[in-house]
Order: sequence, then structure tokens, then C-alpha cells
Amino acid sequence: MKYHIVSLGCPKNKVDSERFAWVMESAGWKYSEEPEKSDLVLLNTCAFIAPATEESLEYLSDIIYWKKARPGRKIVLAGCLPGRYRDDGSGGMEDIDLVIGPGDWRKLSSWLGVASDVTAQVVGSGSYRYLKIATGCSNGCAFCTIPAIRGKFVPDRMDAILRDSDLLVQQGAGEIGVVAQDSGSWQEDGTDITSLVETLAARHPETWWRLYYLHPLHFPYRMLDAFSKYSNILPYVDLPIQHASSSILDRMGRRHGVKTLETIMEKIERSAVEVAVRYTVITGYPGETDSDFKLLRDFLGRYPSGRHIAAFSWYPEEGTREYSRAIAMGDAVNDSVASERLAALSAVGDALYADWDNRLDGRELSILADDTHSGHTVWDAPEVDAVVSFTKSVESGSVVKARVVESSGAVIVAEPVR
Ligand code: SF4
Repeated sequence: MKYHIVSLGCPKNKVDSERFAWVMESAGWKYSEEPEKSDLVLLNTCAFIAPATEESLEYLSDIIYWKKARPGRKIVLAGCLPGRYRDDGSGGMEDIDLVIGPGDWRKLSSWLGVASDVTAQVVGSGSYRYLKIATGCSNGCAFCTIPAIRGKFVPDRMDAILRDSDLLVQQGAGEIGVVAQDSGSWQEDGTDITSLVETLAARHPETWWRLYYLHPLHFPYRMLDAFSKYSNILPYVDLPIQHASSSILDRMGRRHGVKTLETIMEKIERSAVEVAVRYTVITGYPGETDSDFKLLRDFLGRYPSGRHIAAFSWYPEEGTREYSRAIAMGDAVNDSVASERLAALSAVGDALYADWDNRLDGRELSILADDTHSGHTVWDAPEVDAVVSFTKSVESGSVVKARVVESSGAVIVAEPVR
């Protein structure tokens, strides 16, 4: 019997999909790249924002069509879509054989008849993989649906994290991204996130370690020292600042002001190693004035460590606190103003890249080859940041020394030197 998994959304969903795959394999199923040749399709959905929900529903309708084409085919619906829109009994779910919430591999294993006391592991391959260290989030930002979908922050146990890290390394991962909704909040019996990442880096010294999703409120300042203590902890800070006006941060429910952001960035600038920061921000937030926006734009352009800006326009997401408040206050930012502000941030992002282009030009860098002709640097996360094109073929999965012959924003060309 063959199965196929469609995994939508963020790296955290990818880890859940790898766990689901392990459960399927334990029950004797074999993975197929082709849904047409499969007897079961597991759709692991994302419903973080309305466009992601729409994408998940489109996939679901395709898969229902696939099921109707041959009797006996099965559908498992997993992830945030059922987590957010629970079956209210009004119908429409009859084509789905099993519905499971985000990461609920136990329900899948009991449906398949696999012993549920077995701890699920991850299966997969690739030069970079992800290691999930917690589920959920307790921050309750006013614009976000995650706590309602995934529940409160629950850290994974350190022994389980170490076991998963061993597996990922055995399966050939050259880089492992450590992920959670709020990674800085992870702790166990006095061990904090920095000690955890240092333990992982010492245990697997040949592997690159990249930490994602550092909420400024729980920023692990000691991590900046870890960057210089361990060459395999990548000097990359994924910083969802969301805004740089204290009044907007307050309305977002972020529980810190702009001073916290300045402190973090000033410490990063003084770091002993060259650090790249990836900012995530929301513009066009209800109540955002021209001067709020100027504060955000100026902040993003201020620090040389800033390398990437992932900017989004605020979206009226049903079920969030801001959705009803913006309606009640009638102060949502007009769409055309929001688009103009987004475009202005894109220009700031281009200027940051231009500065980095000058710094990278002609330098010899270590680059992880994701295949024989492309890879990524320590300052660029796979899939979302800059991609390196090699001028000649290299060994996939290896760390290649290469000289930058051209750097143009998210595209770097590099010549392998040995
Ligand atoms: S910290 Fe992130 S996941 Fe948690 S509520 Fe805020 S935006 Fe959502």
C-alpha cells in the first residue's frame, strides 16, 4: 500500500509531516512521489492566514476529486485547517477518512493500528532539515491565530530533541534549523535555548545549526556569544519585530517597546562575528499613521546587520482580537496606502541587500550545497533568503569553499575554489 503526503505552510508543518511519514512507514505503508499511484493521501494543511486557508481548501478539493476517481482511496486531513475550522457536523467532511489536528501523530497511529506508546520519529532527506523543539505559543499577539489553532507553548523534552537531532544527522542533514513559534521561550530544568543549541552544536560539530523565530521579548542574548564560541552555530538572527513604533507594538500586544528592539540590534552590531538579521514586519496595521510608518522604515534601514526584510500588509484575519477592534474603531489603513508602504519597505530591503553585495563581493565563503549547482551561505536561510549559484558542479550536501564573483541581492554567483 502506498501513501503520499502534501505538506503546506511553514517548516514546523514539515517536521509534523516527517513524523506522519514515520507512522505510515511503521504501519507498513510505502511512500510514493506520485499521488496517482497512491492509495492514501495525507494533506497537512496551513490556515495561519486566509490566503493559506484558501490554498489548503484548493488542495483538499483536488484530493477529493482524486479520491472519487478510484474506489478505496483514502484521505487524511491534518494540520491547522482542521485545527482552526473544527467539524461542526454540518457536512462536507464525508469524503475524508480521518481528521487530525496539528502534529497529532498519535491519532494517526491508533487509526492505523500502530502501537501508540511508540514515540514517533522523523524520516526524510535533504541537505537541510528542521528540528521542532516546541508546539504552540502563549504570546497572544492581537493579529495572530496561532495560539487558537495550536494552543499554548509546550516545550519538547530535551532527550526527545537530542534523539531527533541524531536521526536528522544520520539521515544526512548538513544544516538543521531549530524551530518553534517562539524558540527563545524554550527551557527545561534551568537549561535555556542557548544551552540547548550549544549542546546540539557540540554533539554534532560537522552540522550547521540555525535558530529561527526569536520573539524580541524572549531574545536569548547569550546566543550572540555562542556564535563566536561555535563556528557551526550560524550567525543568523531571525527576528520578527513586526513594527518599530511603540504605540503600534502596544496595540499588537507584543509586550515590549522599541527600546527592546534597539537594545537587541545594538548588541548584534557589537557582536564579535558578522551577523545577518532577517526582520519580519507588518505594515498597514490598523491605526498606523505616517509617523508610525516612518519609525518602522527608519529602524529597518539603520543597522548594517539587517540583511533581509520579510514585510507583509496587515490582513483582517477573522477570529483575531485586531479583526473586531479594527472594525469597531474604523481605523484600518486604506489598501492603497498599505500597498505604498509595502513598496517603500521593499526599497529599504533593496538598500540593505546593496550594502551586503558590496561586502560580499570577492570574498571566499563557506556555502552549503543544496544540490550540485546551488546552495546557501551562513547568512541566508534555505528557501526564503539568497541563493548561491555555483559556476561549476559541486558535491550535493557538502560545504563548499567558493569565491563570490557576483552578488546581486538574493542572487549570488560563486566560484568553487577547492
Ligand atoms: S509570537 Fe508569533 S505565533 Fe505567537 S501569537 Fe505572536 S505572532 Fe502568533
